[in-house]
Amino acid sequence: MTGTSGKALRDGRGRAVSYLRLSVTDRCNLACMYCRPKESFTFIGHDKILRYEEMLDLVGLARDMGIVKLRLTGGEPFARRDFMSFVASIRERYPEMDLRITTNATLLAGRPAMLAKLGVSAVNISLDSLDQATFARITGHDRLSAVLQGIGECLEAGIRVKINAVALRGINTAEIPAFVAMAEKSPIDVRFIEFMPVGDGNLWRPENYISAQDVVELASRAAEFVPDDSDRATGGPARMYRIAGGAGRFGVISPLSEHFCDTCNRLRITADGKLRTCLFSTKEYRLRAMLRNPALGLAAVRRVIALALRTKPLGYEVLDPGTAGKTRGMSAIGG
Ligand code: SAM
Repeated sequence: MTGTSGKALRDGRGRAVSYLRLSVTDRCNLACMYCRPKESFTFIGHDKILRYEEMLDLVGLARDMGIVKLRLTGGEPFARRDFMSFVASIRERYPEMDLRITTNATLLAGRPAMLAKLGVSAVNISLDSLDQATFARITGHDRLSAVLQGIGECLEAGIRVKINAVALRGINTAEIPAFVAMAEKSPIDVRFIEFMPVGDGNLWRPENYISAQDVVELASRAAEFVPDDSDRATGGPARMYRIAGGAGRFGVISPLSEHFCDTCNRLRITADGKLRTCLFSTKEYRLRAMLRNPALGLAAVRRVIALALRTKPLGYEVLDPGTAGKTRGMSAIGG
């Protein structure tokens, strides 16, 4: 976990920072009811989106500063043109980077074999329902079969699969046993995430919120759960359970009821080149103009990242109704 200086990157509170989430686009081919429904579609202009070459330079800088794990996200990353070539370029330039992707998997089929070749170690797939009609209701598109095809190909290619489902009371909670069965049958980690009041707060409904603890309660009726602390031990946000006699695991991510800010090791860069040190804070640092100014460039960006890290928040703001709902939407931040 060290950069070229030989020192681990740390924030002002002493937390090690080793993980960058880079959003390659704010555009998405789905319209999930909890993230960005159809009527609210406005996209960032092309000229404001970082070019792949600029992203490659930022990844190199992050690597030099101590980032060892990179997650490509969006919007939908596979919806950006030439995304696979970008992944190949990252691998070529930064062979040692632990490279992962977060995707809705609707455009994944046909690509996992190549991703495995490029050393993508894990793919996180957002999948909120295993029922065709509910999937279409949540996402606005009837694409469940494409997602399942992509998941199957990842497993065949030997890529680790994590499924992320946003827990929506009354919408997909009846399917918790079906998700447990999925994790029992296949070597997959299924994680239910608490519905967060980020972005346009109008999307968040208290009646659709269910705590991680209640999800575990429902899920543990479907199988015998054995707590597995290995993710937490390595700074991961999920509380996981092995399923007795099963191939995979089930777990929950609880940003609201039991936040994990004390061990937050993340930085985020949005597709339009803004650095965020905390998902829940409104504070952003504009890197794009600096990057495009030859007099400033990466040296200035490095200084800004170092400065931003000094004040990386504790993140409890999400629990503050004054801030919740005022940050950008997840599709613009990258989750
Ligand atoms: N398109 C990709 C995908 O679907 O995985 C990447 C971007 S998506 C914004 C990243 C993650 O954010 C997804 O797992 C999504 O479910 C999650 N997300 C979006 N809005 C959320 C919310 N209000 N609460 C909890 N998770 C949310």
